[in-house]
Amino acid sequence: MQAFDLPNYRQPMDDTAGDQSPEQKRAAHAAANPDLAERLDPMAWHCTQEAGTERAFTGTYWDEKRAGTYRCAACDAPVFDSDAKFDSGCGWPSFTGPVADGPDGAAVDARTDSSHGMLRTETNCSSCGAHLGHVFPDGPGPTGDRYCINSACITLEER
Ligand SMILES: [Zn+2]
Repeated sequence: MQAFDLPNYRQPMDDTAGDQSPEQKRAAHAAANPDLAERLDPMAWHCTQEAGTERAFTGTYWDEKRAGTYRCAACDAPVFDSDAKFDSGCGWPSFTGPVADGPDGAAVDARTDSSHGMLRTETNCSSCGAHLGHVFPDGPGPTGDRYCINSACITLEER
């Protein structure tokens, strides 16, 4: 307990990085990338940084069929693959799951979201904390998951 009473005590960054909330990760990422607000268009900023949602059937990728890797619009980390994309009919790009875990752990984090009078599971980029969308338990196939993601939060890198 002594150490915690020292006036200049700080926890080492390395020990806390994995426990940061999406908001803390977003703040750190935005501070380290001052061009982020210019680089993201207003909808991408609203969705990734303010946990907003684009209107159904308005985004770039809800009907996208090309093969490739979908990267986080804010930090470029791979988050979804076209192999896991399916036509959910909901008006947002939908995936059965995120890309396989990388060396730093899961590519996409999930947490409970009770905003707007609904109990949902929010998904965030595990690298930069960007809001991506939500995951619902009504998907097809082995996972049964439907990752309902804003087009504005991802960019497709074709292969
Ligand atoms: Zn990211």
